[in-house]
Amino acid sequence: MSESAKCIFCKIVRGDIPAVKVREDEATLVFMDIQPASPGHALVIPKTHAADLYEIAETDLNIVTATVQRAARAMRQALAPDGIRIVQTNGAAAGQTVFHYHVHLIPMREGQKLGTHGRAPADTEDLKALAARIREAWEG
Ligand code: AMP
Ligand code: ZN
Repeated sequence: MSESAKCIFCKIVRGDIPAVKVREDEATLVFMDIQPASPGHALVIPKTHAADLYEIAETDLNIVTATVQRAARAMRQALAPDGIRIVQTNGAAAGQTVFHYHVHLIPMREGQKLGTHGRAPADTEDLKALAARIREAWEG
């Protein structure tokens, strides 16, 4: 079986499993993290499978980075966090659990504890409402 056939994020890209999407274009997808470190926590991924920073093609990396900037601007406008933490993990030792390149955008509040993963799955309706707010800010 190919890497992408069994990869959970490729399954989301193909629509084989559900996700709360914020926005997508030809090459990237932005969706809500199912176990958010804080409300609004989103992930940006390339649609083409690459395990990590070592493997991703430079063109895809640049496109993902541009999407991360657009998503961060929309998140700042929609949710007015005190800051946005950008996290990208490579290898299990760095905390990577899904081996499809992804960038975390974690809205932060003053005094909030740093961390990449929440403890519990979020309510889908809450995720949908947050995604809609970010999407509306993005699309103006
Ligand atoms: P990392 O530990 O950097 O590999 O981050 C993987 C992230 O993917 C974690 O924050 C998970 O909560 C998130 N995640 C895993 N499966 C899903 C899914 N099906 N939908 C949305 N987010 C997911
Ligand atoms: Zn994949």
